[in-house]
Amino acid sequence: MRALFFDGELKLVNDYPEPMRMAGESIVAVSLAGICGTDREIMRGYMGYRGVPGHEFAGRVTHSDDASLIGARVAGEINAGCGDCAACHARMQRHCRRRTVLGILGRDGAFAERLLLPDANLHRIPDTVSDEAAVMVEPIAAAGEILDQVELPTGGGVVILGDGRLAAIVAMVLSGAGYAVAVAGRHRGKLARIAALDRAHGRIAAYLDGAGERRTVRYRVVIDCTGNAAGFTRALELVEPRGTIVLKSTAAAGAALNLAPVVINEITVVGSRCGRFAPAIEWLAAGRFDPRPLIDGVYPLDESRAAFAAAAEPEKFKILLRPA
Ligand SMILES: [Zn+2]
Ligand SMILES: [Zn+2]
Repeated sequence: MRALFFDGELKLVNDYPEPMRMAGESIVAVSLAGICGTDREIMRGYMGYRGVPGHEFAGRVTHSDDASLIGARVAGEINAGCGDCAACHARMQRHCRRRTVLGILGRDGAFAERLLLPDANLHRIPDTVSDEAAVMVEPIAAAGEILDQVELPTGGGVVILGDGRLAAIVAMVLSGAGYAVAVAGRHRGKLARIAALDRAHGRIAAYLDGAGERRTVRYRVVIDCTGNAAGFTRALELVEPRGTIVLKSTAAAGAALNLAPVVINEITVVGSRCGRFAPAIEWLAAGRFDPRPLIDGVYPLDESRAAFAAAAEPEKFKILLRPA
């Protein structure tokens, strides 16, 4: 099959081996795959990953032990647990120490014609939800994880730092859940697009960070989606005493941090990664929000170089690959 393979550089392989299915696993023909910040970090060596990248996808099951799954349109949870440890028994596969992660850790991913996941990872996509929306279930679920972890204040008091695709999806999910959020970024054009994601309710107030009159405002909850190490420092400046900082990207790895303000102001710091797919799919099916305005391009696999170049452009949100 055709696949993008990464072993220090990304290349298109036309005769990549077909996935070998074991009992309890399904083969999924990938309809669309999303490029996200994690993929770009992998290209820079993150996790030391070698294999087919890509973990955001929508597809159709072609082979499975579960006959009812064959032909089903699906999205898939990316963490596959060992099935045997305390985390897995508690249905927390995403914290299994022996897990594989689609396109990130020990398991080939979605930038290929076909991929392999345990049946239990697959979630059916209702007919009313397009592939273009379904391909974003994984980042929508990851944004929804914040709702599971933190009790957000209603009527304001929440700021999202950053104006990239992650910030946009978090803003969309939280405003869709009824919360008024501020988004503080550096790019006027992207901030306008983010605000427009909830024009109907006007719950997203986007502003250029650093604008003088805003500096005195403090927030109960600050969600760092900047994707850079300076985000945490900025979050510490913007959070109220006894407030909460949610870290949504791994970009602070290796950064020199001054943690004294965490103690002085009694700040709660919450790390937040992957979330539950079922509610994310329900939100899309219910029309709570529409992620499709975030799509800035769809490329075939053999134009992956152009696709990744587009994904690296600061003004772009979501770039998709169409493997088939
Ligand atoms: Zn992602
Ligand atoms: Zn396990």
